[in-house]
Amino acid sequence: MIKTILALTCVTLLSLPAPAQKQQPASAQPPFAAAPQTSQAQAENFPPQLLEQLESIKVAALTDDYAYRQVAHLTENIGPRPSGSPQAKAAVDYVAEELRRLGLEVQLEEVKVPHWVRGVETAELVEYPGHVSGAAQKIVLTALGGSSATPAEGITGDVVVVKTFDELKALGKDRVAGKIVLFNELFDKQKTAAGMAFAAYGEAVRYRGAGPKAAAELGAAAALVRSVGDSDFRLPHTGFSFSAGIPANAVTAEDADLIAHLAAQGPVRMHLTSTPQKLPDATSYNVIADLKGSEHPEQVVVLSGHLDSWDLGTGAIDDGAGVVVAMEAAEIVQRLHLRPRRTLRVIAWMDEENGGAGSQTYTKDHSAEFSSHVAAIESDSGAAHPLGFELRMTPQAAQLLQPVAGVLQSFGATVLQSSPFPPGADIAAMSDAGVPALGLMQDGRTYFHYHHTAADTLDKIVPSELRENAAAMAVMGYALASMKDPLPR
Ligand SMILES: [Zn+2]
Repeated sequence: MIKTILALTCVTLLSLPAPAQKQQPASAQPPFAAAPQTSQAQAENFPPQLLEQLESIKVAALTDDYAYRQVAHLTENIGPRPSGSPQAKAAVDYVAEELRRLGLEVQLEEVKVPHWVRGVETAELVEYPGHVSGAAQKIVLTALGGSSATPAEGITGDVVVVKTFDELKALGKDRVAGKIVLFNELFDKQKTAAGMAFAAYGEAVRYRGAGPKAAAELGAAAALVRSVGDSDFRLPHTGFSFSAGIPANAVTAEDADLIAHLAAQGPVRMHLTSTPQKLPDATSYNVIADLKGSEHPEQVVVLSGHLDSWDLGTGAIDDGAGVVVAMEAAEIVQRLHLRPRRTLRVIAWMDEENGGAGSQTYTKDHSAEFSSHVAAIESDSGAAHPLGFELRMTPQAAQLLQPVAGVLQSFGATVLQSSPFPPGADIAAMSDAGVPALGLMQDGRTYFHYHHTAADTLDKIVPSELRENAAAMAVMGYALASMKDPLPR
């Protein structure tokens, strides 16, 4: 996921007093002593029969491995799915065929995507204080998405280390031109440990996104960023970076430390070889699959994840998991012979990682229908235990969803947390257009160990936790599509 630029730093917990409590005198029982009460609007929207259906959807999801089998196929049989790759194409065909087999109406929406392929990537420090003649210090790095290449024989240059954009600016053109600039912004592991991994990511990822371009503007020969993640197994993290016209690579946290320590002692020179290629744009597709509503087929609830991945791992937690829990929601509704009032639309987005062409195309093709898109859900924060949902909607709409949290309470996915930002990159344009938007919110404590690295592989998905995610997606999706009224805007 990019989710970068969204900087999820100031989410606030919704407090949702039941209206009946509001009318009680101040001397009545304090809220923490009272059982939750159901408002009239909640009761009307979630009659007992619907609550029973939601319960049976949850039970079905918690006892089924459909989603896991799908993500195993996507990651192990198909493999990494970067935009424009043959594997991304195979994944589109596979997901479309699976959803057809479930009885959904499937369309492929054509998307023009960038096609960038990784080449050789090696680096070593060739001069530094205390350098032993004939030796070199190997640096582990990986090219950022869209990066330009060095010549095949590589380049050699002095390394300049900065922590911030301001430090870079203060150096000025004279001390940056012709150099290799390292942005050494730390990833705040304490935030991750405190449950705020996405805030830590939002702070650090600015340097991955905009650092290389800022360095190029001052004439740098190449840019390096400290990997945006908190693994400590010397794993480089790739990811999107604005086109800078110079080689742009992420070094591991360990190697960023090494370079910074040596550069503090004296001049450091690096030999860098990085030979990715930018090929002509390719044709790809969003997979869009409808399970038509019985009463309001024109009203749509989007359930989604992104099908493309980075190329280093196999795209299991980012974001095979999101696609397959959306698929499983449709599978369960069909298997239980349920029929939602409104249309459930499963979308497997293309190119979330390398520019967002899939969501841009959907917005262009469908924005006239956004007034009848009653809600959109995206899962793009991994596959770990779900805590609940991040919401961007009115407080009234959020309050209406409390009965859904009640259904999910048995496994803890009860948090309904309001966010000022769109809770998913692919549904951001819909959210900005006023469509109530929900992001499935997972325990993020390990997500950035693996995200965008070679270690984003199937073994990182715990089957029981994936089942919980499928349950949360399916229950919330069916609820939004079957409650009496569409969510207020
Ligand atoms: Zn993702």
